[in-house]
Amino acid sequence: MQSTKFNPWEMALEQLDSVARKMKLNPNVHAILRHPKKSLIVSIPVRMDNGSVRVFTGYRVQHNISRGPGKGGIRYHPDVTLDGVKAMAMWMTWKCAIVNIPFGGAKGGIVCKPEEMSSDELERLTRRYTSEIILMIGPERDIPAPDVNTNQQIMAWIMDTYSIDKGYSVPGVVTGKPLSIGGSLGRNEATARGCVYTLMSAVKYLGLDLHRQRVVVQGYGNVGWNSAKLLFEQGCKIIGVSDVEGGIYNSDGLDPYKVYEHSRKTGSVVNYKEAENLTNQELLTLNCDILMPAAIETQITKSNARRIKAKVLLEAANGPTTPEADKILEDKGIFVIPDILANAGGVTVSYFEWVQGMQAYFWSEREINLKLRDIMQKAFDNVYRLSRKKKVTMRTAAYILAVSRVADAHLTRGLYP
Ligand code: GLU
Repeated sequence: MQSTKFNPWEMALEQLDSVARKMKLNPNVHAILRHPKKSLIVSIPVRMDNGSVRVFTGYRVQHNISRGPGKGGIRYHPDVTLDGVKAMAMWMTWKCAIVNIPFGGAKGGIVCKPEEMSSDELERLTRRYTSEIILMIGPERDIPAPDVNTNQQIMAWIMDTYSIDKGYSVPGVVTGKPLSIGGSLGRNEATARGCVYTLMSAVKYLGLDLHRQRVVVQGYGNVGWNSAKLLFEQGCKIIGVSDVEGGIYNSDGLDPYKVYEHSRKTGSVVNYKEAENLTNQELLTLNCDILMPAAIETQITKSNARRIKAKVLLEAANGPTTPEADKILEDKGIFVIPDILANAGGVTVSYFEWVQGMQAYFWSEREINLKLRDIMQKAFDNVYRLSRKKKVTMRTAAYILAVSRVADAHLTRGLYP
């Protein structure tokens, strides 16, 4: 899962430009949507455990807030760049519009290697970052959440730092919080569960049996591991999984729980005894039915797309497929469930968490999962029907739906002044 030379922002713009042409988007709205509304770069000095001070770089970008406050995760990763954060903020705008929740798109990130930092260092980094971006965030402004390498604890530190600044508790400033401070049941698994719901709809339309599918999952973080687990429970055969260190494969199927235990003990899924090791590149091109990239962006490119053998590409990660690769997948007839639809379950339950926090009234996990299923199925149906009607790919249909909702909100509100 190496970073590549692909610039995610150029990729996001190319996706927008291409759909703008197809849907004859109002050129003024198009011009506005090509720019993030607000981008902040901050320096974050942190006292390290050895007494020295290191200065990290962090970002927060709001792409568009026409439909509601900015919403999007915060990523801790050495490959974080301003352009990457801009792209992911734009993808959040489309994602929230597709599932029709009242949020715009935002994203944040810090360039760091969290696995090399102590918990105290991470806390100081998080609190100082929060204080540097504090003017941009808030329950009505912009609401961060977890993303790659960030978790409930980090959300708790953000919430606490923000609340101390205000002088009272403000749970609505972040989602993905621990339950003890206003988190939502089901949020942890929500992205994976949302992916599974979209896949259930897809197999129905494609006339496939979910429990017969052979699945490969790239990435074994929150989304990859929970998806492998949920699909295994649905009777799918998980034949390959991977993480940053590499992948493992067993054509007879893996038990995702045992793989998780192994990875917790050893720090990686590789060298799991009931499987053979392989590289991430080999994993992506395995013979399987469902391929689920659940790691980072630009993994499926023009150099490997031709060798992809899956019938369905379920994009759990943000931006895993480059536009060039997308064209190749289309020519090969691979059914793509695009990221902005497939992985929208996370932000959907984030929305539920925000609503529950505002009402100070909390729902049962069953209620949350049922509401999530309704939203994901409806979003899938809308995108699928549009793709049939307009004879376009699922990605193009998803973009047409999302961009038209955002454009509509913008045109209804009008341009100030
Ligand atoms: N980071 C997640 C995403 O990319 C969740 C965002 C959120 O819940 O705000 O969708």
